[in-house]
Amino acid sequence: MATSLPLWLNYGRQPQRREDACTLMTDDERWMTEALTEAARAEAAGEVPVGAIVVYQRAIIGRGHNSPILLHDPTAHAELLALREAARSFGNYRLPETTLYVSVEPCLMCMGALLHARVQRLVFGCHDPKTGAAGSLYDLSRNQRLNHQIEVSTGVGAEESREMLQRFFRKKRSRSGASNE
Ligand SMILES: [Zn+2]
Repeated sequence: MATSLPLWLNYGRQPQRREDACTLMTDDERWMTEALTEAARAEAAGEVPVGAIVVYQRAIIGRGHNSPILLHDPTAHAELLALREAARSFGNYRLPETTLYVSVEPCLMCMGALLHARVQRLVFGCHDPKTGAAGSLYDLSRNQRLNHQIEVSTGVGAEESREMLQRFFRKKRSRSGASNE
């Protein structure tokens, strides 16, 4: 695994520099701002704004934003894209000791992928009462019938994430309302 370390240096962003600028933030808040940056990218592309990053030993090893429309891919959720990139960086389909930060609670598919990848910890922003599978509709994070459990923290960046989603759907509704007139 150590041999894939140099790959991480390819990431343009240097988390250490960001730390200096945001000393009042906790680590989770700091990383969540990166996930929210990804969510904003999805929003700019006309996709539901959800963003995710994977962190290992204080470095981002994968990032992704929701892109199912653009990629014609129902599985192109932010978490899956971030996990794929992380697994490539890692040179391994298992991602132990990693934390995945995502702006919105993961769905069933993404929780399934997190379990397969053996992600250690999940930090998500706002809950998703319609599809959330880390506490809302289901909780796959600590199901004892499964062979892996994931530590979960919630609420970090929740307000910003929720606002982004509400703004997106408000715009979408007003556009579809205007086209119906
Ligand atoms: Zn998902």
